Amino acid sequence: MSETGFCPELGDDVREVRDWVHEFARTVVRPAGAEWDEREETPWPVIQEAAKIGLYSLDFFAQQWFEPSGLGLIVAFEELFWGDAGIGLSIVGTGLAAAALSASGTPEQIGQWLPQMFGTPDDVKLGAFCASEPDAGSDVGAIRTRAVHDEASGDWILNGVKTWATNGGIADVHVIVASVDPSLGTRGQASFVVPPGTPGLSMGQKFKKHGIRASHTAEVVLDNVRLPGSCLLGGKEKLDARLARVREGGRAGEQAAMRTFETTRPSVAAMAVGIARAGFEYARDYAREREQFGRKIGENQAIAFLLADMATRVDVARLMTWRAAWMARNGKTFEQAEGSMCKLVAGETAVWVTEQAIQILGGAGYTREHPVERFHRDAKIYTIFEGTSEIQRLIIGRAVTGLPVR
Ligand SMILES: Cc1cc2nc3c(=O)[nH]c(=O)nc-3n(C[C@H](O)[C@H](O)[C@H](O)COP(=O)(O)OP(=O)(O)OC[C@H]3O[C@@H](n4cnc5c(N)ncnc54)[C@H](O)[C@@H]3O)c2cc1C
Repeated sequence: MSETGFCPELGDDVREVRDWVHEFARTVVRPAGAEWDEREETPWPVIQEAAKIGLYSLDFFAQQWFEPSGLGLIVAFEELFWGDAGIGLSIVGTGLAAAALSASGTPEQIGQWLPQMFGTPDDVKLGAFCASEPDAGSDVGAIRTRAVHDEASGDWILNGVKTWATNGGIADVHVIVASVDPSLGTRGQASFVVPPGTPGLSMGQKFKKHGIRASHTAEVVLDNVRLPGSCLLGGKEKLDARLARVREGGRAGEQAAMRTFETTRPSVAAMAVGIARAGFEYARDYAREREQFGRKIGENQAIAFLLADMATRVDVARLMTWRAAWMARNGKTFEQAEGSMCKLVAGETAVWVTEQAIQILGGAGYTREHPVERFHRDAKIYTIFEGTSEIQRLIIGRAVTGLPVR
């Protein structure tokens, strides 16, 4: 991989992508945000529009993933989530499953299943990544879903219950993390693709949520799901070799999984930056117009200083996100868990900034007449999913101390 120096000035190609996604977010996503939040349904018409212009497409994700500065997807996600986070997640939720498939699959598996996760503009499909379980959230090692190999047929049989899966049960392609050898914790796990229409996979309850309500979150039940050997990501030979190394006392697998999570965290952080910026801009514009005591409320230092802090913190979060994205793209080692750092800062910034936005709008901010209460509800998930803020601190704490912090 040829190295590109870190530069916070975007290249022409990336700027073009940013402006293109911003236009879609401004004209299509933002105006639809309130409606789909109220409906708490997958916004299919918006996803279809995104597919028609090529934004929801394998081509777009692949092109931006390989963009040399590492900032292509990052700026796209910030703009999209600036528009609306619930709709944004409905459009990019497939990306999580796509990243998991790309991280563990063979070239043949990637070539077969990635296109099926996205479908075509006329026949849009979704992907879902299912790791979490009722008793295994932060503690991924506690996953109970079992994958048992049937030696006679070469098939795998999966049983278990997954929960909080984005697009769970409505996706065409599910990527399932299951335990092959529970005694080995995370290192005894493997990922499987469940093809469309496979018997035994069904949707459990769909959750009603605090925020990102347009994004579908549900349980996925696996009841004797029989999969051909070709659905084990990476293949059986590789799995057997890895398990043998682990049983001999090696630490194979764990580090690879950690690296994958670290490298996808900047794109999640970018979503939070988009929400934070939306909250800041809305509050800033309001403070320039709203008058109390015969002057604009923004003329009070109390409000102007708050806006100053909001703007500063959004920039801090964005710069940390861009740094981590650039590091990930250019193969830099995250010595201080810089991926976790940006996710931590961006998530907490989004919650803080959107709360201050409500404060600046006063009573108006607390109503659904303005979007800032929705921004705030949407922001909260960024301190919870893709590793809670506490788990990010745990990872950073271990990296900076070199101690087995628990
Ligand atoms: C809307 C939504 C969408 C999601 N999408 C997906 C998806 O697509 N796929 C998927 O697999 N999962 C998904 N998740 C699951 C998500 O990743 C988990 O909710 C998250 O990992 C936290 O797990 P938990 O909810 O079980 O919390 P718990 O792990 O039970 O944590 C509860 C609290 O304890 C804290 N805690 C736990 N362990 C420690 C520790 N060692 N030290 C300090 N504090 C600790 C946590 O930080 C948290 O504050 C989604 C969740 C939501 C809500």
